[in-house]
Amino acid sequence: MTENVIIIGSGPAGLTAALYTARANLNPLLISGNEFGGQIALTNEVENYPGFPDGITGPELTELMKQQAEKFGARFESDHVQRVDFQTHPFVLETENGARYETKSVVIATGASPRRLGVPGELELTGRGVSYCATCDGFFFRGKEVAVIGGGDSALQEGLFLTRFAARVHIIHRRSQLRAQPILQARAKENPKINFVWDSIVEKIHGDGALDAVDLINVRTGAASQLPVQGLFVYIGHIPNTQLFVGQLDMDDEGYLRVNERLHTKIPGVLAAGEAHDHIFKQAVISAGYGSMAAMEVEKFLADLEHQGYSALEKAFA
Ligand code: NAP
Repeated sequence: MTENVIIIGSGPAGLTAALYTARANLNPLLISGNEFGGQIALTNEVENYPGFPDGITGPELTELMKQQAEKFGARFESDHVQRVDFQTHPFVLETENGARYETKSVVIATGASPRRLGVPGELELTGRGVSYCATCDGFFFRGKEVAVIGGGDSALQEGLFLTRFAARVHIIHRRSQLRAQPILQARAKENPKINFVWDSIVEKIHGDGALDAVDLINVRTGAASQLPVQGLFVYIGHIPNTQLFVGQLDMDDEGYLRVNERLHTKIPGVLAAGEAHDHIFKQAVISAGYGSMAAMEVEKFLADLEHQGYSALEKAFA
């Protein structure tokens, strides 16, 4: 069987693409990846997704999106795409569980993953005090001292969340100005449990089996210091999950997929939606918007394909 459309990824972009293509009667298949819901599912409180005036947790929001898409017939596979072939049409996708799919179109909604610090001790102590998800791990740090690295929305939002558990939250930022939205800055600065460590970077992470301290360097003065902490939460941005497409699709220096204004990659019928290509806005609501746009374009592509055939579309695209 050749699928009409396979959506890779289960964040807001993928789930919205599934909803729209399902409502267009295209019987979409969504391959969800190893962690259902993407980054938003790791977010404790989503306050700026329209329609939820009291906020909603990331996992609840993703579950509702999934239910809505399923209601209209979207199918879900919990699997991980390992290989793609876009040089042939129908396109071919192969997965970790050994499945091989042929499909007329693809929506890449693989999103982005947390960037790592890349300092000694980080890998060894991940899961032993070093974490990239306060929602998942914050509870383990009840009454403890923790640090958060970064000065963006994620660092402040998750730092504030951690104050529910931790005795103290040190937010370590490499500059003395935050990048985060003013509302988060104000809340963090007012919170008595939050201590800002300005102009500082982590040079080394210490611990014998469990994190116990981080070495810091003040980038202005060059002064070295050590901060004893039991938890370290890293929020220094993201890397797009596009390694799978290297050599087949165009991407920029940071790995974000290049798409045209209608979200097609250079291969007609292969579209991207969300943080796999959006390196500017990175908001759940915007990813959802991209998911709906990609779905509408898939609908148009499949109609054109039926009337003209793939080689005619390829020629028109070139
Ligand atoms: P971000 O905005 O890119 O911020 C990353 C932070 O990490 C910056 O403060 C950056 O410092 C710092 N950083 C980067 N590399 C570093 C390194 N090697 N060592 C130390 N610090 C480093 O990332 P984000 O906070 O994850 O946010 C990503 C996007 O999601 C943004 O568009 C954000 O608005 C959005 N978001 C929104 C919400 C919300 O609306 N509530 C919540 C979370 C995220 P510099 O400032 O010096 O560059």
